[in-house]
Amino acid sequence: MVFHKDPCGIFCILLTYALVIYADYVIMQHIIATTLSGSLWGPFHGIMLNLIIFVLLYAHTRAVLSDPGAVPLPLTRLDFSDIHLQKNKPHKDKSVSGEDWTVCQRCETYRPPRAHHCKVCRRCIRRMDHHCPWVNNCIGELNQKYFIQFLFYTVLLCAYALALNIANWIWMFGHGRTTNADLLSKKSTVAHGIGLCIESVLFGLFVVIMLYDQLSSIFGDETGVEYTIHRSRKERAPRPRKPKMALLREVFGYGPIYCWFLPCSSVVMTTRTVLPGSYDV
Ligand SMILES: [Zn+2]
Ligand SMILES: [Zn+2]
Repeated sequence: MVFHKDPCGIFCILLTYALVIYADYVIMQHIIATTLSGSLWGPFHGIMLNLIIFVLLYAHTRAVLSDPGAVPLPLTRLDFSDIHLQKNKPHKDKSVSGEDWTVCQRCETYRPPRAHHCKVCRRCIRRMDHHCPWVNNCIGELNQKYFIQFLFYTVLLCAYALALNIANWIWMFGHGRTTNADLLSKKSTVAHGIGLCIESVLFGLFVVIMLYDQLSSIFGDETGVEYTIHRSRKERAPRPRKPKMALLREVFGYGPIYCWFLPCSSVVMTTRTVLPGSYDV
C-alpha cells in the first residue's frame, strides 16, 4: 500500500469525495425523495446511483493505494560514479523507445524498459503514464486499470446525474404546485439542480477528455510520459506492433472482459516487466 503526503494530491482526493457526496446528496434529497418518492423508480434510481458511486470510490481507492509499479531498489548500493561523471553528456538512459534496461541516476538503480522517474513519488515507475493529483499517485503498469475504471464510472455518474436532473426539471415545471412550502422546496431544488448541472457538465467533459487520452495511449502503445518526450524531441512514436485487444489485455488483465469493469476483480494483473528476484521492494 502506498500513500504520498503531497498536499496537492490530498486536496484533490478530498475534493473528489466532496463532489461525489454533493451529487449523491442532491439526487437523493432533492430528486428521489421529492419527485420519485411515491414510485418504484425512486428505490430503483437510489440503488443504481449508490451502486455506481460505490464502484467509483472503490476504483478510486485502489488507484490511490495501489503500487503503480515502482521499480524495486537494490539491496546493496550500486556504484554509478562513472555515470555521474558523464552527467552532462547525452546518455543511453535518455532513450524512451528502447527495449534496453537503463540507469536512473536519482534512484541509483537499473530500471526496465519504459520505466520513468517520478519526482513526486521519488521512484522509477514501470510504464509510467503520468503522476495524477486526483488519485495522489502515479499511473503506471499496475494501477492504470483502476484509474481508467475510476474515469469510466465518473463519466457514468455525471451522465446519470444530468439525466435525472433534467427529467426532474421537466416533471417539476410540468406540475403546477401552488403552496408556499412547495414553492420553497422548488427554489431549493432548482438551486441545487443548477449546481449539480454545472458540476456534471464541467467534470464530465474533463473526465471524458482524460478517458479519451488514456484509451489513445493504450491503443497507440505510448504512455503519457513517452508522448511528451517524443514531442519535445520531435520524434515519431513507434507504431504499435500488437493488436488492439492484446494492448487492452495488457492493461486490464487476461481474465474475462466483465472483470475489466470490476475494481475488486482478483484477476492477476499482467506483469509486463520481469524483474530480477534479487531486489528488495
Ligand atoms: Zn528513478
Ligand atoms: Zn508519481
